[in-house]
Amino acid sequence: MLATQAHPALLTATAELVVLDAGTAAPRAHHDVLLFEIQRQIELAPRQRMILAHHHDQMVSDHLSMQHAFGNRQQHIEHDAVDLVVGAVVGEDANLFPWLAKPVLDSGTLPLLGGDTPVLLGVFVSDSLESRTVEVKVHGQDWPQSQDVFKDVPAEPDGAITMLRELAVLVPQGPALPLSRATLERTFQGLTQAHRSTPRPMLAWPGWRAHQGALLSPMPEADVHAMESELGPLPPDYRRFLVEVAAGGAGPGYGLLAPMGQGQQRLARGQFTWRDSEEPRTPPEGCVALAYAGCGVMWLLVISGPNRGEVWVDAVGSDRVARRVARSFDAFYRAWLDAALRNSTTFAQWNALRCATPNVLTHVLDDLEGQGIRGDAAMRELARKVTPQSLLLRSAPTPYFYDQELMGPCLPCVLLVERLGLSQDVFVDGIPPLQGRPLPPPPEGMLARWARKLGKREA
Ligand SMILES: [Zn+2]
Repeated sequence: MLATQAHPALLTATAELVVLDAGTAAPRAHHDVLLFEIQRQIELAPRQRMILAHHHDQMVSDHLSMQHAFGNRQQHIEHDAVDLVVGAVVGEDANLFPWLAKPVLDSGTLPLLGGDTPVLLGVFVSDSLESRTVEVKVHGQDWPQSQDVFKDVPAEPDGAITMLRELAVLVPQGPALPLSRATLERTFQGLTQAHRSTPRPMLAWPGWRAHQGALLSPMPEADVHAMESELGPLPPDYRRFLVEVAAGGAGPGYGLLAPMGQGQQRLARGQFTWRDSEEPRTPPEGCVALAYAGCGVMWLLVISGPNRGEVWVDAVGSDRVARRVARSFDAFYRAWLDAALRNSTTFAQWNALRCATPNVLTHVLDDLEGQGIRGDAAMRELARKVTPQSLLLRSAPTPYFYDQELMGPCLPCVLLVERLGLSQDVFVDGIPPLQGRPLPPPPEGMLARWARKLGKREA
């Protein structure tokens, strides 16, 4: 088990393991069969060396701390082998692997593990007569992209069975290096692949479908420069993201908005003066719209004033409060990715019970209760009344939508209707906010107007 001199990160890991055991430990037939076989093998032959595990028996169950560069960042790794069972006699010349987690770390198949919190990496490998089972888990969630890491390791000899699980905790050291497009693309591909085998709420709603985990092309430096002459200088981490990673696409809510959409210029004017956790008294100023969350809620990147560089959420459309949610664009984006990797059910910093949808559904249920319909009967009646395409979220005039425009729902509202046994297609699709719509073509110049009046085509 884990070392007694517990590193703080290990305490986190232990807590996560306890949660996993309590919450998601589904019975696995292949584990039971292997355990039985291994017990039998151990009775037949004393515990010896194995191919997949380790070349010094005395080290197999030892605790190991090491420094390792991963993801271009130095990581302190606390490492332990847990649930280790061996049942084979192996020759001296066996192709030996020291630890399971290291080859996985070295393989370049893991997602961006870029938050400031420790990452839990679990690797399970078992070899039996018929097959090899490999399970790599990041934060306790399957990561199928790393499954092929051990494919070149020879199989155990006849009659040998290995079942090995390792746990590593990666504790980031020093500042993170900038986000890279290649790592993000690998991460989104892995999330999509993992979602196919085990659906993830953050990938199963209209917001994710709007970008489908794809990044837009980066912005040419000259375009960013021209845009800054309109909007003012952008925070350096966001500017770098635009030029080196993407102008928008995969991101929180309905995805990152490109900074040159309609209405961005108007938001950028003036100074950002909102106060944290209060209802704003003025429209947003000195910021750009970063991502639309649904239900009229918008994440903003502050570009002027004392809060420059921070990310705030404007939830006036939901619980009427504005909040500071991250110290920087970079931290905000990494926190969202981390939530997706942990398979969090949602990524929201407002009280979505104050959105329009819960209000409407409460009214319907209150009405039913008034008619004496409660419990399961009320749920059935709710499903009969709230049919597909029956929930329309219409906007009031806001900095992000014109009056009466159709808005998409936020993730917590989608999950709420699903918890009530309704399908998420009860919502009518929304349109993107103003900031997600392309700018209209520039007004015609006088020469062009004259050319048209004179019946000539513009050269
Ligand atoms: Zn909502």
